[in-house]
Amino acid sequence: MRRIIYGVFWVGVYLILILTPLVVLLIGPTPPGRSFWRELSVALGFVGLAMLGIQFFLTARVPGVTRPYGIDVIYHFHRQISLIAFAFVLAHPLILFIESPETLILLNPLTAPARATAGVIALLLLAILIVASVWRLRLRINYEAWRLSHGILATAVVALAVGHVVGVGYYVGEPYKRILWIVLSVAWVSALVYTRLVKPLLLINRPYQVEEVTQERGDTWTLALRPEGHKGMTFRPGQFAWLTIWRTPFSIREHPFSFSSSAMHPERLEFSIKELGDFTRTLKEVTPGTRAYLDGPYGVFTLDYYPAPGYVFIAGGVGITPVVSMLRTAADRRDARPFLLIYGSPTWEGITFREELEELEGRLNLRVCHVLEQPPEGWTGETGFVTADLLARHLPDERLHYEYFICGPEPMLNAVDRALDQLGIPIEQTHAERFNLV
Ligand SMILES: Cc1cc2nc3c(=O)[nH]c(=O)nc-3n(C[C@H](O)[C@H](O)[C@H](O)COP(=O)(O)OP(=O)(O)OC[C@H]3O[C@@H](n4cnc5c(N)ncnc54)[C@H](O)[C@@H]3O)c2cc1C
Repeated sequence: MRRIIYGVFWVGVYLILILTPLVVLLIGPTPPGRSFWRELSVALGFVGLAMLGIQFFLTARVPGVTRPYGIDVIYHFHRQISLIAFAFVLAHPLILFIESPETLILLNPLTAPARATAGVIALLLLAILIVASVWRLRLRINYEAWRLSHGILATAVVALAVGHVVGVGYYVGEPYKRILWIVLSVAWVSALVYTRLVKPLLLINRPYQVEEVTQERGDTWTLALRPEGHKGMTFRPGQFAWLTIWRTPFSIREHPFSFSSSAMHPERLEFSIKELGDFTRTLKEVTPGTRAYLDGPYGVFTLDYYPAPGYVFIAGGVGITPVVSMLRTAADRRDARPFLLIYGSPTWEGITFREELEELEGRLNLRVCHVLEQPPEGWTGETGFVTADLLARHLPDERLHYEYFICGPEPMLNAVDRALDQLGIPIEQTHAERFNLV
């Protein structure tokens, strides 16, 4: 209930923040002789700019803001709302050009005043930023290069747009309106300063040390970290943190990983990481004693937030990590509720945590159903992918009262979502963790 209240509260704050500049700017005298269309174009520009400025807060990972929704929802909102903001900002000059074609001359940087050119460049940079973000994978833009350019472009867009507003000067003539823009600009810059300076400074004072690196089945390595000179962090099983290793927290090279250890043992935090790309392939080379930093915990993918008489986990590949954390924690808490794990893996030999899951079946009221893509000879269990038929065979009779946690590759998540829907499981009882935030 508290999370819902917080959620509604932040939506209200968001609406107030994007609409206040517009309302305040429209109070008081307006420039004489201007048409409805011109006023509308300006209004859209103001709302679009306010939305863009607030984007810095959305990605600042402020705990109170992310907690009610989960950071994946916030990032999703950030992506979608940026398209709407872009449409508003783009509509601003388009309406102007249609209404007064003579203003097209403002596009010529050689003759246009600097304030107009600032607006044009801001719009162009915003278009580049949007294209690079929406089509990053298709354009084969490396994640780190994208992230660095994203921050620089976003800052430049907002700075140039504020310069444009102040330079044009309509609606910001009175001192209190100027103060409003100064306050807004300072707030947006503060979000940036918090993310790039304050938070790294806080993290640098809370280092961790790699205690052990162990190989798991399925090209996966578990990194165990211990807090160095501080109490460490507590987390809910199923949550995740951003890990920085070999670098300081000022670096943009940080990667999100789910905790795989029990939440009952915060003195030793474990992350189980599959070799997939540039960074994850190098983790096996980490030596004990290496310093690491953690920003977290984040996420709402945890049974702690969804009390139920029983739970169903559906995991694919390395998507087992948050699930194994929930199961280990449940075992440590002597949780007697029933758990069902449906776990898809390519091969029997490659099932990450296979032996430990067998052991957990002895400690918990847990049943594990393996689904193998390439089963070994003589395999009598489930094969192929997780489908509605397969789920119907395994879900318990009380299925409608259970909570469902799904984590795995994108196609699996989508297929399982559809399958659960077919089986009549209420959507609010299914929770998915997507490993591709961006
Ligand atoms: C909430 C969450 C929990 C996760 N938990 C686990 C886990 O427990 N175990 C595990 O093995 N993997 C986990 N992942 C996935 C893991 O973060 C990526 O596989 C890893 O960052 C890839 O980095 P790379 O440089 O090796 O691969 P690359 O080949 O460079 O990247 C592959 C893809 O991973 C994503 N990615 C890369 N770097 C980052 C980054 N810094 N931040 C966000 N996304 C990035 C991008 O979409 C990229 O296209 C999780 C991801 C998320 C979002």
